[in-house]
Amino acid sequence: MQPKFYNIINDELRSSDKTHAVTNPRTEDNLWPCPIASTDDFEEAVSAAQKAFVTWGRTTVAERQAALVKLADVLEEHSSELGEILSQETGKSAILADIDIKASIAQCLYYSKTALEDEVQYEDDTTRVVATHTPLGVVAAICPWNFPLILSNIKVVSSLVTGNCVIVKPSPFTPYAVMKWVELSRGILPPGVFQVLNGGADLGSLMTLHPGIAKISFTGTIATGKRVMAACAKTLKKVTLELAGNDACIVCADADFDKTIPSVASGAFFNAGQVCVASKRIYVHESIYDEFLKRLVEEVETKYGVQENPRAPSVFGPVDNKAQFESVRAIIEECKAQNFDIVTGGKTASVSASGKGFWLEPTIVSRPPEDCTLVKEEQFGPVLPVLAWSDEDDVVSRSNLANAGLGASIYSTDLQKAERIARRLEAGSVYINQFERPNFGAYFAGMKDSGFGGEMGKQGLLSYSYTQCLHFAK
Ligand code: NAD
Repeated sequence: MQPKFYNIINDELRSSDKTHAVTNPRTEDNLWPCPIASTDDFEEAVSAAQKAFVTWGRTTVAERQAALVKLADVLEEHSSELGEILSQETGKSAILADIDIKASIAQCLYYSKTALEDEVQYEDDTTRVVATHTPLGVVAAICPWNFPLILSNIKVVSSLVTGNCVIVKPSPFTPYAVMKWVELSRGILPPGVFQVLNGGADLGSLMTLHPGIAKISFTGTIATGKRVMAACAKTLKKVTLELAGNDACIVCADADFDKTIPSVASGAFFNAGQVCVASKRIYVHESIYDEFLKRLVEEVETKYGVQENPRAPSVFGPVDNKAQFESVRAIIEECKAQNFDIVTGGKTASVSASGKGFWLEPTIVSRPPEDCTLVKEEQFGPVLPVLAWSDEDDVVSRSNLANAGLGASIYSTDLQKAERIARRLEAGSVYINQFERPNFGAYFAGMKDSGFGGEMGKQGLLSYSYTQCLHFAK
């Protein structure tokens, strides 16, 4: 039976006159009709959330955390149904879809035990100042398509545990699993606390302008992030922007090859490079460059090929949607037109046996110039530049692009050196001897063009709260 999908407003299932269907990027099959929320739906959702906030905002942390455990139970209980939906809408293998669900469960459970506490900020003989954290109101969570559940879920759990109501807007490229999860979670929270609306830029834009919404938590591109921030200024909304990263990965001459090569390959080609903190530019020390590149190519050719069967044990996959496919394809075409040294991959015509799907081979380009699109811009797909370095100051300066503020990685057996370089990198999360992978307990925030504010960990929860100081006279 075909699954059905609904906007969820005030705990009710809502259809719509307007629907759209996503294309499965693995097969190019059309998926199921998905209702597009109208402006009236949006207004109703905001009113329901504001009404719900009056009581939800006064609940105890323990009550909210109990709800998070129940949300995790729903994900667990329906993991095969949600995994199948997720796999079809994103084109991900069953293994990758399962990671999206398992990580979301882990986030719910982590925040069911982690919350902000009151703290004494100052005390002397005459006064005692206690900082407490109060919710903002209604949060709108505007989400991208690369990890639909994880990236929506972190905004949901952060909103709920801090006492906010949340309206989730998944990406129109991947709305289904998130909508189904909210539908299946009905009854856990009071009506209006946790809602979902499907729509694109128009709906996102309405959210950023509505005076009834207190905060926008946005994850997506730098260009859209700038629009979101400008729109939020009109009503002085709180805003968190989790944006793109053009992560540099620095491999030192003393890196342990056996450990580093699989890790670098995974950092670059996991989910076909569609990870905000994927390793997007690899800088290898000149003295090991040739040997490293040879072994990296072997690793990638063995482990990251096109596997059309979604049950195959692969963490590679197609590009998520036609627009992104064309964007990555154009980057590869540019490399070909410029006669850059493509050492593996490089085909831009259909590469799957069926001739269907938004598939591109893993592609590695050796020593492209620093000012080409592949190096300067975030590719967000399976094409990787590998470059050489020999001077530490030089590699640090080449790494620190304005759009590279999200993450970075360094491989070296000399931990002091690795840490010294890490501290010079202008990126919010730096990973040493491991590829970039956000940790839901650690603050995650982009520097420079990669973001504004951040999420995750206790520090992340602060951005979902007002900090109020209670000054007690003694
Ligand atoms: P996008 O900016 O195109 O869209 C993101 C969301 O914004 C979608 O839900 C979209 O409908 C909505 N939107 C579009 N225009 C809007 C507007 N004017 N106002 C409000 N909302 C609007 O991004 P995308 O292509 O979905 O996501 C991929 C990008 O996200 C990549 O650059 C990736 O690096 C980045 N990303 C960042 C993180 C992070 O945590 N920093 C995580 C994942 C992805």
